[in-house]
Order: sequence, then structure tokens, then C-alpha cells
Amino acid sequence: MDAADMGDDLERILLSEEQLSSRLDELAAQIDADYAAKDVLLVGVLKGAVMVMADLARRLHGPVEMDWMAVSSYGSGTKSSGVVRILKDLDADLTGRHVLIVEDIIDSGLTLSWLLSNLRSRGPASVEIATMLRKPDAAKVEVDVRYVGFEIPNEFVVGYGLDYAERYRNLPFVGTLAPHVYSH
Ligand code: 5GP
Ligand code: MG
Ligand code: MG
Repeated sequence: MDAADMGDDLERILLSEEQLSSRLDELAAQIDADYAAKDVLLVGVLKGAVMVMADLARRLHGPVEMDWMAVSSYGSGTKSSGVVRILKDLDADLTGRHVLIVEDIIDSGLTLSWLLSNLRSRGPASVEIATMLRKPDAAKVEVDVRYVGFEIPNEFVVGYGLDYAERYRNLPFVGTLAPHVYSH
């Protein structure tokens, strides 16, 4: 799916496929340098992180492991509350591992801060976070995010793994939707 397939549903492209790709090159080089001699376990949070996980992992030179978690965050409407339930847990034992959480986007940061303390309680050697996108509200939460692709404005975005009603995850770019899409 691309912009041409969206008719008038697309409002504007915020980050093009090329921008995402060259930023991922930079993040991967940084991660490679930081983890030089260490085995990394990449932990992706389903489903949004699928694209960034696939593209980031392929750029890394070490033989990384990939594992997945699915969580559901209780909240009113579109805002997450920080109360989280695990729908699918990791297969890997984190004891002594260097864990890098791979995220699509950090908005309130509540889900992430819950995840961080959950993973830290499992005895890993280290836990860091890489996120493709970060919104301004994330600054309110005391979470140290080592790798950030792009800071974006406080708008609802879709594409590159991010959905609206499970749609648009397969767009190669990050964009906003025209208002009429939400009123269907
Ligand atoms: P947080 O706990 O940081 O508020 O929630 C992060 C999650 O909310 C993301 O993993 C994503 O699923 C969803 N989310 C936050 N902002 C957006 C957005 O702009 N677009 C989409 N599609 N999902 C978002
Ligand atoms: Mg996510
Ligand atoms: Mg979603």
C-alpha cells in the first residue's frame, strides 16, 4: 500500500520511506557500536513494532535474537492508563541478557514504563529502549530512552506499523489521516 492507494484518506506524509530508512541506518550504526561485543535480545511489542523491528534488525551486524510480547493496556478510549495485561509473554529467559526494547511510538509512555519495570524484574544484564517515534507527552514520564528515531508533534499518525482501527499498518511512510476517515 502506498499514498496512491489511499485516495483522499491521506492528509499528509510526515516522514517519508526515505527519511525512515536513513534514520534507521544511523540508529543501527549507533546500536552496533554500543553493543559491539555483546549479544543483543531485541524485544518487540506487537503489533506496531513489526516494521521497525524487521528493518532495524536487518541493519544490525551482530546475530541478534528477536522475541515478541503482546500486551493490552486498559484505559478510557484512546488514552492508555498504564494498567497493562500480558496477552503473549516472551519465550526467552532474560537472565543475564542485554535486552533492547524496540517500539513504534511512545506517546504517554505509560505502557513502556510498565514494560520496563516488568522486564527489569527478570534479571537482565541491561535493558534499553529504541523507538522510531516519540511524542511530546512522553517527556512527562521518567523513562530514559536511549535511541529515538524522530520527535513528532502531538498528532495521531498511521503507517509503518501504526494503525487506525487495524488499518494502514502496511504504509511504508508515517502520515496523518484526513478528518473524514474518523467520522465513518
Ligand atoms: P503510550 O502508553 O505511550 O501512550 O501508548 C503507546 C501506544 O499507543 C503505541 O504503541 C501505539 O499503539 C498507540 N499510539 C500512540 N500514539 C499513536 C499514534 O499517533 N498513532 C497510532 N496509530 N497509535 C498510537
Ligand atoms: Mg508500541
Ligand atoms: Mg493501535
